[in-house]
Amino acid sequence: MRFIDEFRDAGLARKLAHRIAAVSTKQARLMEFCGGHTVAIMKNGIRQLLPPTVQMLSGPGCPVCVTANSDIDKVLALARLPDVTITTFGDMLKVPGSYSSLQRARADGCDIRIVYSTQDALQIARENPAKSVVFIGIGFETTAPTVAAAVMQADAEKIKNFYILCLLKLTPPAMKALLDLGEVKLDGIICPGHVSAIIGTHPYQSYARDYRVACVVSGFEPVDILQAVEMLVQQIEAGKPDVEIAYTRGVKPEGNIKALEMMQKAFDIRGATWRGIGTIPSSGYRLKQKYSRFDAETAFVIDPGPVREHQGCCCGEVLRGVKTPADCKLFAKVCVPENPVGPCMVSSEGSCAAYYQYGDFHER
Ligand code: SF4
Repeated sequence: MRFIDEFRDAGLARKLAHRIAAVSTKQARLMEFCGGHTVAIMKNGIRQLLPPTVQMLSGPGCPVCVTANSDIDKVLALARLPDVTITTFGDMLKVPGSYSSLQRARADGCDIRIVYSTQDALQIARENPAKSVVFIGIGFETTAPTVAAAVMQADAEKIKNFYILCLLKLTPPAMKALLDLGEVKLDGIICPGHVSAIIGTHPYQSYARDYRVACVVSGFEPVDILQAVEMLVQQIEAGKPDVEIAYTRGVKPEGNIKALEMMQKAFDIRGATWRGIGTIPSSGYRLKQKYSRFDAETAFVIDPGPVREHQGCCCGEVLRGVKTPADCKLFAKVCVPENPVGPCMVSSEGSCAAYYQYGDFHER
């Protein structure tokens, strides 16, 4: 298939790996921000193809994983309200909050439905006028335009029973927060492909300029990622950090202007709480005043109760790149996909789930 097969070509991947090994003399510590990249790297054995000078770390780019327990508790509190229907992407179902999960709440009788798009959620609202239908808005800049579109459509149709719990997040402030924390010294970032298709490359310029960190936007196939690593290594070897796009078939420097305009119309920017990092200023979206009647936090009294973190789970450190899943004492023993302790073992983009599915720990 065009645009797929050539990016999965094993011979091309091996050639790229040889080229990287030939030019890499300096230590290069690279972080893939996006959970989709983590999965592709683990699935295709890319770490094993790279020379010892190139180290790959996983970052906080899984939207479900970075959703704080306090926010999951809010979702559960909403689900327990009378005549409320929760609509959510399937990844959220098994994510444990402080004391329960949506899956358990559904077993207890709460009306929780899996949807594949915001339009599905809107349709459920149209079909169930007696219910208050809340869409759980979890995601990054890739999801935000679809939430904005649904709210605008609900407004145009005067739908009165549709709400958003807006937990959407912006990725560049989280990258900056990690660089400011300085726990892991990064030489390069594999910037997220889908997010960059929306926001473009402008938000990364300060990482190259002010933090001297090389940035390359990558696609999600093995050849895409190796190409991005090669570009990063070349920048690092030359001592000239810059922002480049390897994923040219998906990303333009200016991003998606239409989507950005739509987001600007629908959202204000506010601080958001990230699992493992805490509150990051200007890293979350909130519906604008004009659309506040669709805001679940305004429309309902939500009482999530006290927050509890899961004993022994180090998702926070995993998301900051300080630990790998294998460093967690619960990994693959107590915490497995069938019985996840933390969100990183639940989500299809979670590091722990990717390590569990594709890592070589089974043989050790
Ligand atoms: S293995 Fe499980 S408990 Fe450990 S960090 Fe990952 S999700 Fe948390």
